[in-house]
Amino acid sequence: MYLGIDKGGTRHTFILADAEGEVLHRVQHETDRHAGAQAELESLRQEVVSLLAKASASGSPVKAIGISFGGPVDIRTGRTLLSHHVPGWEGVPLRDLFEEWFGTPTVLDNDANVGALGEWKFGAGAGCCDMVYVNVGTGIGGGVIANGQLVRGERNLAGEIGHMTIDPKGPVCTCGRTGCLESFASGLSIARRYRERFGSGEPEDLSSRAIFEKAGADDPNAKSLITETADYLARGLGAAVSLLNPELVVLGGGLSETGDLLFKPLNELLAKYILPQAVGVRVVPALLGYEAGVRGAVALAMGA
Ligand SMILES: [Zn+2]
Repeated sequence: MYLGIDKGGTRHTFILADAEGEVLHRVQHETDRHAGAQAELESLRQEVVSLLAKASASGSPVKAIGISFGGPVDIRTGRTLLSHHVPGWEGVPLRDLFEEWFGTPTVLDNDANVGALGEWKFGAGAGCCDMVYVNVGTGIGGGVIANGQLVRGERNLAGEIGHMTIDPKGPVCTCGRTGCLESFASGLSIARRYRERFGSGEPEDLSSRAIFEKAGADDPNAKSLITETADYLARGLGAAVSLLNPELVVLGGGLSETGDLLFKPLNELLAKYILPQAVGVRVVPALLGYEAGVRGAVALAMGA
């Protein structure tokens, strides 16, 4: 059996899976983001103890553990570098702690890479050899599968499509630079652009989902903003397609649920930014939703 763990911002998800990666048992906890890394570590430890015992009792002990971590990690040392949500995760030797506590091989990676693995092994990219995964949520993350392997790069930063420069004169990005894809097309950026242009009377917390709903109800402002968003995404995806010639681009996160409103213009506009010979590539919605991380963590464990 394999144990996959998705350690997200406020949610920890665990699954026990069989040798094919099929889910046998699933547990989820909401966590208190103010409790800090030590409290989270202890809660992870307790749940893993209980799941390892459950697997052993079933006669099929856990062979390896995979962890999707919501923040950058150093995969060479198995340390977390920081959590985007919870203080105290700087430099925690998570892999070594797990191996010491449980005596079980453990693999750790960031949530973008693990999400890519999940969609590739069990979701929209199943059976495909070359795939780009892009997660558009509050930010934009991504992962690359090339020649049937996850590409990590020298510092595990391959696939950071959210920080491709789309327009150097563009808005300030969360990374501190300007004009990254994330600064135009993340959920937060879509809402900000809408408010700046049309929204003098709109609430501060207007969500990108609400804008897609307006577009679905034929609101012309929302529709034009979404076409423009599709164009920004197409520029970023076009660059990725030119570099990697994938068969599929899998779009995950909140935007994966927008249907034809986004995917139709996005697939049409993508053709503007790629070589005519590459137009066979399709942008498709992710299939696993929030389960991509924990299923990918199982894939990570299976490769351990
Ligand atoms: Zn950036």
